[in-house]
Amino acid sequence: MSVLIVGSTALDSIKTPNAENPRLLGGSASHAAVAASFFSPVKLIGVVGEDFPKKYLQLYQRHKIDLEGLQILPGKTFHWSGEYEANMNNRRTLATELGVFETFTPTLPKAHQDTPFVLLANIAPALQHHVLDQMRRPKFVVADTMDLWLNIALPDLLKLLPRLDGFVLNDSEAQQLTREDNVFAALEKIHKLGPKYVIIKKGSHGSILSGPKGFFICPAYPLHTVEDPTGAGDSFVGGMMGYLATAKGSIDDNIRRAMVYGSVTASFCCEGFGLTRTTKIKRADIDRRVKELEKLTKF
Ligand code: AMP
Repeated sequence: MSVLIVGSTALDSIKTPNAENPRLLGGSASHAAVAASFFSPVKLIGVVGEDFPKKYLQLYQRHKIDLEGLQILPGKTFHWSGEYEANMNNRRTLATELGVFETFTPTLPKAHQDTPFVLLANIAPALQHHVLDQMRRPKFVVADTMDLWLNIALPDLLKLLPRLDGFVLNDSEAQQLTREDNVFAALEKIHKLGPKYVIIKKGSHGSILSGPKGFFICPAYPLHTVEDPTGAGDSFVGGMMGYLATAKGSIDDNIRRAMVYGSVTASFCCEGFGLTRTTKIKRADIDRRVKELEKLTKF
C-alpha cells in the first residue's frame, strides 16, 4: 500500500558550529517522503517555485516518489534557514521566506484520494484539514506539528486531533499543548483530545508511544556524532508510515517495529546535512541498524 504525504517542500540553509550549507533540499514532506520511500510507494503533495533546482526533482524521482501532486508555481520556493548551538539540540530559526507556500492550496489528484495511509507532515493545520477533506476513507492518518502552530493556529489544530488516528509531536510541544511536564500525563491528556495513537519524540533519547496496547519506549540509534539533525523528526514519522503501509497485519501488530524503523531512518538523516546522507543509503543499511538496536535493547 502507498503513503500520501503532504507538508513543506523547501530549500533549507543550515548552519551548525562546524559548517554551513545553503539551499539544501528540505521541508517536512521532503524528509518524510524520502524516508518512507525505503519501505513503500509515496505520493508527495506540496508546492515549489520555478527556482526549485531540477536536481532535487530528480532526487525525488530516484526515490520513485510520485510527483503528480507537486505544484510548480511562478515565484520562489519556501526558504527556511536555521542555526544550531554547540549542543546540536537548540536551534534558532534565522529566516522563513514563504514564497509560493504563502498561497498554497493542496489539491489532490483524483487517483490520490483513495490512498490508504496519510501523513500530514508539518504544515499549517488548516492545510492538513484541507487534505483530509479530499480523502475517501483512509485506513490510517497521522499528523505531525510544530510549536508555531500551537502558538498561532491552536483552534485549527484542536479541531484536527479528533480526525486523526495518530499524532506525533516532540516533548516540548507536548508540554506546551498540555501544560504537563510529565510525559505520561501529557500522553493521557492528548488521547482525550482525539488520537488513538500518540507518540512523543524526545530527540536523541528516542520516543514514547501510547496506544490501545499500552506504552512502547522506542530507542534512538546511538550516534557518536551528529552533523545536522534537521528533518530527523520528519524522517522518523515518514519511515514509520512507510513501514506500516507495507507490513502485514494490524496497526497494533506493527506499530512498535515501525517506530524502530523510523528511528533508524532518522539516525541516518542526522549523519549528514539535509538529505545528503539519507539519499545515499539502501534499505539493507536500515535493516542492519535495526538488528543492532534489537541487540542493544534486549534483556
Ligand atoms: P524538523 O527538524 O523535524 O523540525 O524539521 C525541519 C524542517 O521543517 C526543515 O526542512 C524546514 O524546511 C521545515 N520547516 C521549518 N519551518 C517550517 C514551517 N513554518 N512550516 C513547515 N515546515 C517548516
